[in-house]
Order: sequence, then structure tokens, then C-alpha cells
Amino acid sequence: MTFATLGLIEPLLRALETLGYQTPTPVQAQAIPAVLAGRDLMAAAQTGTGKTAGFAVPLLQLLTMEGPKVAANSARALILCPTRELAEQVHASVAEYAQHLPLTTYAVYGGVSINPQMMKLRKGVDILVATPGRLIDLFRQNALKLNQLQTLVLDEADRMLDLGFSEELANIYRMLPKKRQTLLFSATFSDEIRVLAGQMLNDPLSIEVSPRNVAANTVKQWVVPVDKKRKPELFVHLMRKGRWKQVLVFAKTRNGVDALVDKLQGLGINADGIHGDKPQATRQRALDRFKSSEVQILVATDVAARGLDIEDLPLVVNFDLPIVAEDYIHRIGRTGRAGNTGEAISLVCADEVNMLSAIEMLTRQTLTRKMEPDFEPEHRVPDTDASGQVVKKPKKPKKPKTSGGGGKRNLGKWVDSGEVAPAEPSIKPVRKVPVFNTGPRKKK
Ligand code: AMP
Repeated sequence: MTFATLGLIEPLLRALETLGYQTPTPVQAQAIPAVLAGRDLMAAAQTGTGKTAGFAVPLLQLLTMEGPKVAANSARALILCPTRELAEQVHASVAEYAQHLPLTTYAVYGGVSINPQMMKLRKGVDILVATPGRLIDLFRQNALKLNQLQTLVLDEADRMLDLGFSEELANIYRMLPKKRQTLLFSATFSDEIRVLAGQMLNDPLSIEVSPRNVAANTVKQWVVPVDKKRKPELFVHLMRKGRWKQVLVFAKTRNGVDALVDKLQGLGINADGIHGDKPQATRQRALDRFKSSEVQILVATDVAARGLDIEDLPLVVNFDLPIVAEDYIHRIGRTGRAGNTGEAISLVCADEVNMLSAIEMLTRQTLTRKMEPDFEPEHRVPDTDASGQVVKKPKKPKKPKTSGGGGKRNLGKWVDSGEVAPAEPSIKPVRKVPVFNTGPRKKK
């Protein structure tokens, strides 16, 4: 199958050829004809499947072939994204696909001044990429009208709900014209997503290009058990041993990102970090430098890393496991993209056993464990498997102390190897349950 057989017009075929896209990916093969035919879509497609072109390319064709010219302060198509990074990323892709078309595109998001965005919208734009909060602000200030809107795309809809945007989505829903085409893309199809789809979509075509909630199988994944305090040391050891070149590292918290970046920089390693406390311009600069290989190690929180599209990223390291199991799928989706193979390594300490178990249950696989010599943990990580069970071995009875002393401090041989550190915080292997239309906004 080729893009030409999907019925795409010449300017789009030329743009795709320039980008080196030779054949449509499975999601594109299904989505492109459906969108061109005017259908609503509910697509379960992970990042890395080529989903952006799956909705953007046919959308550009429809806008080129149909509909009146865009009016002042209006948009003909709206793509909603959960984060600024994803909005920028999607906008960059849309602009590339549209390079030979007479269409205008623009991205708006919070964290930057609204005035230039209001100015830019005066003439109207054909495709507007937006995060929900800023879109609502622009609408309320009359900088944007939506009565000319013909297509709405919800990109990474599951993530929008996870980030607490359900109220914003409900508000936006009320602002939309009734007659429109709606395309919903989501890495996972939770029950909440189905509720959202029920409200927003009209007789949608369902597309599922990978089994539900299963992580990309082009990614080789494994776990290295280690004590929490030795993670930085293990990371540096693995990096040197494996001669890692370009690595995206995930840490759980903003402080965790800063601490690891400081540690690496202190060792003369070219590292930078991105998280929500950093201004957008700084985040973008770190990302650009990582993409151009000026920075070797980029450490990020889940929210900041959302939407990062780095071609051929060979390796993702989970310095900490994510609290929400589905974030694991998003994280490892940064590697093994568009048919390439990748690796995802997780450094897991005993405290994280419940998160590991939740990930294995969600991805329906038991992750291979590889013990790193000299880094075997004192606090054993209990066995886990895809059933969601954490197998805690019964404690061995302690040997009595002998008169010559012994115990942990002197020889280490009396330490109970089956001992398990109390899991903290105690996180159950369950998913977050955001509720469309009712839930309060969660702050991350
Ligand atoms: P996405 O899932 O939309 O984030 O796309 C993942 C990556 O795959 C991006 O770097 C795209 O540029 C690339 N890509 C998308 N479609 C194709 C295709 N048909 N052939 C080759 N690369 C593609």
C-alpha cells in the first residue's frame, strides 16, 4: 500500500516523500480513508505509531478541498493536546505536512503571554493546535470563535483526563458547533475515555492498531533491582558500561530530576533536565539541545516529557517507576518508534514493587530482571508477575548471634536475605479514575 492509493492529493504526497515516509503505518492506513470519508474516529494508538500523520494528513486534505475561507478570529480545525510540548510537536508535524498547501496553522498554550496569540488569531487560522486551558481563555476573551469549526481532534485524550482536564473538555464541548467531525486518539481506552467518546463522537469508526494497553513490542524491556540510595551510582555505572550515547531518563519528581542532573553534571556528564517548574523557553531549549545531540542525557518528569518526539531514540531509562502504570507505556513509547527497535531499562528498588506489579499487570508481561554485579540490593525487590501478585517470601528465621559477634555490621552474613523493606508510599496497582464532566482539576 502507498499513500497515493489512499487517495491523497499531490502536495501532500510530495511533503510525505520529502519526510521519507514511504508506506503508511497501520494506523494511517485505517485512519486516512475514514477521515477523508468524513467519519468520526475513535483510535487506540500509542505514540510512535504515526498517529499524528494519521489524523493531520487527511484533515489537511479536507480543509484544502472543502469549506469556505477561514473567517477572522476563527479556526476551521482544532487539535487539542494535553501539554505544551505535545502541542508544539503536533504543530511542527502539521506544518511539515502542510508545507505545499495554502493553509495556515498555529499553536496556542499556556505559560506564555496571551497577547501575541490573540493578535495572531485576528486573521483566523485553518488549523489551530491548543491546550485546553488556553483555548478556553482565548474563547472567553473573544479572540476565538468556534462557529466555523468543522473538525475537532482530541489527541492523547487519556492523558488529558489523567491531567485533570475533564472539566475543561466539558466546557469546550459546550463551545463547539453540533455539526462537526470528531477524531479521538488515545494510547489506552479506559472506561472514562469511552464515556468521553460517547458524548463527543457520532457513530465513530473504532481503530485499534495494537492490543489494548500492551506496550510496544519493538522495545526490549528489563528491570535492574537496586537499593534506592544506589540508583545514581548504578545509572552512571550502566551508562559507562553500555557506552550510552543519547538517553532519555524519567524521574518521578521535579526534585528528583534536579538532583540527578546535578549529580551527572558534577561528574562532567553532559546532562540537562526538564520539568514543569522550568519556563517553557528553557524546556524547549533543553529539548532542542538533546535532539541535536548537544546534550547526552535528558532527565524529565512525565508531564514535561509528554509529546517529545525524538527520532530513533535508542534508550529510555526509568530512574524511578511512574506512579501511574499507564505512564510506563507512554515513557517507553519514546523509543522503538516507527518500526525501530529500542531499549527500556527500569531501575527498581524495593519501595517500588507495587508499581512494578501494576505495570506488569497492565502490559501483561513479567519484566525480565537483570541483577547488576556489585549492585545487588540489600532490600530485595519481591517477585512479581503479570497477575498483579507480589510474592513476599516468608522471612527466614534469624540465626542466633554467636559470642564472636557478627551480624550485619561485621560480616553481613546474618542479614535476612528475604527481608523486605516496607513499601512506601503504599501504592495499589490500580489506575487513576478521572471522571469526565465532574472531576475537580488535579494538580500534578
Ligand atoms: P507519532 O506516533 O505520530 O508521534 O509518530 C512517530 C514518528 O514516526 C514520527 O517521528 C513520525 O515522523 C514518524 N512517522 C510517522 N508516519 C511515518 C511513516 N509512514 N513512515 C515513516 N515514519 C513515519
